[in-house]
Amino acid sequence: MNRTIQAIKELMISIGRPVKLMEVCGTHTVAIFRHGIRDLLPKEIRLLSGPGCPVCVTSIRDVDTAIEIAKQYDVIVTTFGDMMRVPGDRQTLSQAKAEGGDIRIVYSPLDALKLAEKNPSRTVVFFATGFETTSPLVAGTLAEAEARGILNFFIYSVHKTVPPALNALLNAPDVQIDGFILPGHVSTIIGLKPYAFLAADYHKPSVVTGFDAADILNGVLMLLQQIAGNRAAVENEYAKVVKEEGNPRAVSLLHEFFEPEDAYWRGIGVLPGSGLRLKERYRHRDVMKKYTIIVPEGQEPKACSCGDVLKGIKIPTDCALFGKACTPDKPVGACMVSTEGSCAAYYKYIGTALQPAADLKKGD
Ligand code: SF4
Ligand code: SF4
Repeated sequence: MNRTIQAIKELMISIGRPVKLMEVCGTHTVAIFRHGIRDLLPKEIRLLSGPGCPVCVTSIRDVDTAIEIAKQYDVIVTTFGDMMRVPGDRQTLSQAKAEGGDIRIVYSPLDALKLAEKNPSRTVVFFATGFETTSPLVAGTLAEAEARGILNFFIYSVHKTVPPALNALLNAPDVQIDGFILPGHVSTIIGLKPYAFLAADYHKPSVVTGFDAADILNGVLMLLQQIAGNRAAVENEYAKVVKEEGNPRAVSLLHEFFEPEDAYWRGIGVLPGSGLRLKERYRHRDVMKKYTIIVPEGQEPKACSCGDVLKGIKIPTDCALFGKACTPDKPVGACMVSTEGSCAAYYKYIGTALQPAADLKKGD
């Protein structure tokens, strides 16, 4: 590792300017803190967190819609634990449960299907959040429901896909990123090809990277080598896990059930083609076809800077509420909810012993 750090330092001297790298995935944000990577790197390398935590980017309206679904007669809403605490416009799923909504935590969509099988007179809805790591599991569960004729299983799909979000980030005028540390887990499913536009259209270096300290440092080194050589390519540091073609079986399962649609990302806005909806032939599994539920878009809490944090324009400590009005116990914005959320990660590893944002930024 020492040799890698030395090589990084030498490359930064030859590049001769600050470099901003975005880690797209929330797991990387946490790993970077846990391994103390920032302290190992020259302070001219700024690591920015991106929109890579599915909890953080689920919109207020989607949370409110899930709550409304739970109010329908005889419905059980199931969801991953992290989603329970995401603030909607008025309340969280957890608060809606306390008021009597039948909302249950599951560890996998298959658990929700089992619940549907055990409760044939109830309508069981899986609140389907997450990126390409989760959506193939949901597609697999739908295939199982179809094969076994379990008709009372539905989903509310707010799945999102990573490449369109990167495309939108690069089109935003205020976003400046020199290279991407691409998500290891999502890439095991989609492979490298969907990222080709980063190099071809935007000349942005990008490297799929693993999660241990050596992986992350190697990923940074590979990015700097591209930047120093004025090259842009999609490279794979995590070849022991991520195959160039990804997981074609998972991708074809995904394509069997889902197709792209425009989706609203919390704090960012509508990103074309970045969501997944059920294909026409499986719409009978879409809970929104069963009930008429219309929920207006909620207002982001005024002082919350989640949107700018997710775009890498601000870091969490720039937010006036960080560690004061907004903590993991009492999150104001979604970025403080999930352990992989940028604000929650900063809070856990920096805490309330705040460094002035200006100082942090120098080495961030
Ligand atoms: S879902 Fe996968 S890619 Fe997204 S934050 Fe979690 S680990 Fe990273
Ligand atoms: S600290 Fe809280 S209020 Fe501020 S950006 Fe993060 S989630 Fe939003």
